[in-house]
Amino acid sequence: MHGLKSSKEHWDFIIIGGGATGLGIAVDAASRGYSTLLLEQSDFAKATSSRSTKLVHGGVRYLQKGDVALVREALRERGYLRKNAPHLVKNQRFIIGNYRWWEKPFYTIGLTLYDLLSGGMSMGRSLPMSRNNVIRSIPQIVKEKLRGGVVYHDGQFDDSRLAVNLMQTAIEKGATVVNYAKVMHLLKNADGKVSGVVARDELDGVNFTAEGSCIINATGIFVDEIIRMDNPTGKPLVRPSQGVHLVVDRSFLGGDDAIMIPKTSDGRVMFGVPWHNRVILGTTDIPVKEFVLEPKALDEEVDFILETAGRFLTKKPMRSDVLCVFAGLRPLAAPKNGGEGAKTKEISRSHKMIVSTSGLVTITGGKWTTYRKMAEETVDTAVRTNKLPFRECRTKNLKIHGYLENPDTNDRMYIYGSDLDGIMKMLNENPAFAERLDGSTDFTVGEVVWAARREMARTIDDVLARRVRVLYLDARASVAMAPRVASVLAAELGRDKRWEQEQVKEYTEMAKAYILE
Ligand SMILES: Cc1cc2nc3c(=O)[nH]c(=O)nc-3n(C[C@H](O)[C@H](O)[C@H](O)COP(=O)(O)OP(=O)(O)OC[C@H]3O[C@@H](n4cnc5c(N)ncnc54)[C@H](O)[C@@H]3O)c2cc1C
Repeated sequence: MHGLKSSKEHWDFIIIGGGATGLGIAVDAASRGYSTLLLEQSDFAKATSSRSTKLVHGGVRYLQKGDVALVREALRERGYLRKNAPHLVKNQRFIIGNYRWWEKPFYTIGLTLYDLLSGGMSMGRSLPMSRNNVIRSIPQIVKEKLRGGVVYHDGQFDDSRLAVNLMQTAIEKGATVVNYAKVMHLLKNADGKVSGVVARDELDGVNFTAEGSCIINATGIFVDEIIRMDNPTGKPLVRPSQGVHLVVDRSFLGGDDAIMIPKTSDGRVMFGVPWHNRVILGTTDIPVKEFVLEPKALDEEVDFILETAGRFLTKKPMRSDVLCVFAGLRPLAAPKNGGEGAKTKEISRSHKMIVSTSGLVTITGGKWTTYRKMAEETVDTAVRTNKLPFRECRTKNLKIHGYLENPDTNDRMYIYGSDLDGIMKMLNENPAFAERLDGSTDFTVGEVVWAARREMARTIDDVLARRVRVLYLDARASVAMAPRVASVLAAELGRDKRWEQEQVKEYTEMAKAYILE
């Protein structure tokens, strides 16, 4: 499939992990002209990078904590991402409703500072709002004791679509990018320096090796598995913390603006953000024990989000209103003594990079928003560590695949950006591709074909979760579409009936975790 099994090529960069961080590094390294290979064990963005709150933001909550440098850096990166992927990052208004006299001046000052920190890359001024304007913006906001509010602007995006577009950008810059290739071992030379990887093709079970100069561990919450391959006695770097989101109909907010709840009962920030004609509510943050690709929401998390949303919205969401529930894991710093109950701190606020004595460079934490900067630092560090000739970073002004200014966001297919013309041409030329996947939605057969041919989708999950996002918009509806998606994929990928049946079974089982009974 990818020709690696017979290749003797020596890579400048081998990147392990195809989430935001690894894909960003692949784009950075390839665009500097380094020969680059990226291996992802599952699908691109299968783990944390498809499960975010979908915000391109400086992080208002970090400002509350006084972390000004972190916010400034993220706001700068927000600006670059909006500029380089305008088809996926849009300007979103956020409203904070004020119920006490001091809240309006307090949040206006804080959010004006937030806006000022973006320097020349502001997305719009933060301003106080009258009570009437708040109600006009969020028709469903609780009106009792509402005094007014504050509006500020941030970016909002589609996380896994951006991952797919980064994968395409990396390839266009010359990288080789492979999904369903799991790194099983690291290779070392006589000096104990890491010199390559042994990986397993998860689709046919065959192992292959790849050798290279800079080996990058960008595996998110899984970084410790790779660190142990490098050094079996290495201390764990992270442990996971879970964040859950609920997706409900857009009528729960009633408008195009998002709501920001600055302080929940446990002292956190919560959002209700319009997204693809729905509203995303979240998130939570609780320590969990397992590093898994499919984390599951706990009832207490679901109840907490519904209860908090219900305190601020007149149309109170119930369990039966939830179209999808999804959980994502973020890396926390593991306690130094490895002990239970020891205090942990989030390392995802900023990122953490570690260079092992073997030369392995590990990068974890950070945010989707800051993936570009993290990639730049990682490539700089790896090049210096492994003594490759230095070349300047080029990603600040690099247009991401699909780049299109002012897309029509009323068209649900705007996420394809400049690819939309190609998809429409395909649908027009082949009437069978224009058919709907099922009676209840307007997703077409052609989008599955496009995902298989142009976006490296290999399974039903790849298509429905991360290419067209139906799993996230309506998990039950996605299960109903699965058999048709399987048959279209089987025709595209040369698979048989048995494969189709297994795919449908696997997908239906997996999707259960996204459906609230
Ligand atoms: C609940 C939640 C909400 C968030 N919301 C936001 C937000 O709104 N905005 C924002 O900017 N950031 C947000 N973040 C942060 C952001 O999502 C993460 O920082 C980012 O997605 C991390 O990307 P990553 O590539 O480091 O990790 P991942 O996306 O987890 O990718 C790591 C990849 O490595 C692969 N891998 C693991 N082991 C191997 C192996 N042996 N071989 C090959 N591949 C392997 C995995 O399959 C995985 O795909 C949020 C995070 C969470 C948890």
